[in-house]
Amino acid sequence: MDGDASARLGGKDSYLDGNAAAGALSEIFTFDVTMARGRCEQCGAVAALATARWYPDSHGLVLRCSLCEGVLLRLVDHDDLRWVDLRGLSFLEFTPQERRESEIDAV
Ligand SMILES: [Zn+2]
Repeated sequence: MDGDASARLGGKDSYLDGNAAAGALSEIFTFDVTMARGRCEQCGAVAALATARWYPDSHGLVLRCSLCEGVLLRLVDHDDLRWVDLRGLSFLEFTPQERRESEIDAV
């Protein structure tokens, strides 16, 4: 891992970029949600979730806005349940699967 899109590891502010969360989120979303653009409820920034910051810890997955550090998304496993909190996102914007497939067919 190197460059701007890579993880900064070490110290209490260690985080991974949102791309690292793609595997865990694929159990909920049927498409790669890290490619979706979301609006941060706190600062209004609109960006791909891949640019968010994931601070791994034992409590689950928490994606934070790369600009204001506001929580965008939480994914927590508790007992046999998975809990998803999307309150930090005003919206998610993505291209539906059928449109992506027709764009590929047109090439
Ligand atoms: Zn923000």
